Amino acid sequence: KEAPEELLRKDRYLKSGNFTWVYPEQRPEYKMLAVSPPAVHDIGLEAAEATSDYFKDIVMGKKYVEDPFPYAQAYAGWQFGEWAGQLGDGRALSLFETHNPVTGKRYELQLKGSGLTPYSRFADGKAVLRSSIREFLGSEYVNALGIPTTRALSLAELPGTTARRGRGKEPCAVICRFAESWVRVGTFDLLRNRGDRPGVKQLADYVVDDVFGGEDKLLNNDHTRDAIAKSAIPYKHNNRYVKLYREIVTRNAYMCALWQVFGYLNGVVNSDNTSVYGLTIDYGPYAFMDAFDPNYTPNHDDGLLRYSYKNVPTAVWWNMVRLGEDLAELLGVAEGTDLENLTKSEKNELLDTAEAVITSAGEEYKAVFLYTYKKFISKRYGLLEQRDSDFDELMTPTLNMLEDSALDYHRFFRLLGDLPFFTGENASKSEPADFAPDVEQFISPEKNINAIKTPSQTRTELSQFLADFKKRLAAENNTDDAARKVRSREINPKFVLRSWVMQEVVEDAHKGDYDKLERVLNMALHPFQETWDEDWDDEEARFCGHVPKYCDSIQQTCSS
Ligand code: AMP
Ligand code: MG
Ligand code: MG
Repeated sequence: KEAPEELLRKDRYLKSGNFTWVYPEQRPEYKMLAVSPPAVHDIGLEAAEATSDYFKDIVMGKKYVEDPFPYAQAYAGWQFGEWAGQLGDGRALSLFETHNPVTGKRYELQLKGSGLTPYSRFADGKAVLRSSIREFLGSEYVNALGIPTTRALSLAELPGTTARRGRGKEPCAVICRFAESWVRVGTFDLLRNRGDRPGVKQLADYVVDDVFGGEDKLLNNDHTRDAIAKSAIPYKHNNRYVKLYREIVTRNAYMCALWQVFGYLNGVVNSDNTSVYGLTIDYGPYAFMDAFDPNYTPNHDDGLLRYSYKNVPTAVWWNMVRLGEDLAELLGVAEGTDLENLTKSEKNELLDTAEAVITSAGEEYKAVFLYTYKKFISKRYGLLEQRDSDFDELMTPTLNMLEDSALDYHRFFRLLGDLPFFTGENASKSEPADFAPDVEQFISPEKNINAIKTPSQTRTELSQFLADFKKRLAAENNTDDAARKVRSREINPKFVLRSWVMQEVVEDAHKGDYDKLERVLNMALHPFQETWDEDWDDEEARFCGHVPKYCDSIQQTCSS
């Protein structure tokens, strides 16, 4: 506990183990900016408990618990397809674990932006206010959409602490975040690359027993159970590590399918940013898609479009293959085998088995991904039934239309759900051919250079789409506009946490004005509402309206 500063923070490449005790750097000043009420609730605290000085001091990194002592985890990773060696935690610390007394769920609390660790490498251990606001809002918004994610409990500014970024100095902040687990594919990569075979096994056992609660809990969660059962992918064998691998793969398939359904882009899907719990992790250059564009990457440095919308499902799978390699020995081994005394032919057989397991996992990844994607995208359309023909006849042509006309991905679904097809104006026009609703609201008044269709072509295509869609609704007897609207508003957010909105929040925060932060947080926590605060109607309408052209499809840089 009295360890000297130099020892705690000395740059270090570990030869064994994968963490170091280290406490948060003390800052001249701390200023609490925001707490997420749903996060307080989910971690199992009463609202009042989150207002105490003790709570604030802990989540800002001003004080820390000494038993257990805070620690930085070490992990490595594959970044943009290249082996990058040991990486972090360079600016995060794990504080302790805590249980929600009602749900029994266990969470690990972390600080991010809390200062140097032995794994900070060339960087400063700081997080700037700009990116901390983005992570705080992003985590809680993604959770509100129902996508598995790490959570953000609180956001605090550190007055008097600045960091050099790009051309100037920026104010710094610290967030407190939590997750069921912070173990990443990169945590396994570190041990495997070091040749630490007992370490890989120990970590795998920890994840099975402590993170997932035991072998019998594997492959039985609400998100993926049905998809796994339906796909019934055959496996050469199914020992506890195969089950673990399948659990991680299918969780990531589920998460990734929801990313695609909601137009979410992580921006840096490196193996160190890929969670074994299947959580959205690392809110760096992330973004929600504005105009639909499969080539969009929110990461300014992603010149090869590795993490663009159309490539993300493959990128996540690529990381799952790296994990399979990390676990290969364990995947191939029959229960009870002595790994230290294998003959050459036994070794070869083991690797063949591991390869077969990874191949099966690839099929299972695809199956869970498609099952989840179809289920949720059908809901976004307000459909009651899923039909085999929908993919080719409805969804693919619709995405092509959105892309060619650069139409806003989120506006499209929310407006579609609100559109009456069988009532009011359109009630008498029972024949889809006569159906001519107003298509203007789908079209941005701003010109988008990605649009290859002229505005009049866009209008024609939208009209044709809506007439076809009316037929599709009629065919499944889905003619109750009011009921469809209610369903649509449960899955199609009115408020989308767009990059341009967050830029305004950040600009105000830099001037010391946190009003927008508070209001946007409220919108982010309840994105399906139609309105939020009566006093703020105009701003709400603007934030939910068309994207101002000058900030369509913004890009960010990686670490900030
Ligand atoms: P990322 O690209 O955000 O996944 O970060 C890659 C690694 O760099 C992680 O291990 C981070 O902990 C580390 N890192 C990023 N920014 C900083 C910083 N300002 N100080 C120390 N480490 C950092
Ligand atoms: Mg990261
Ligand atoms: Mg990051």
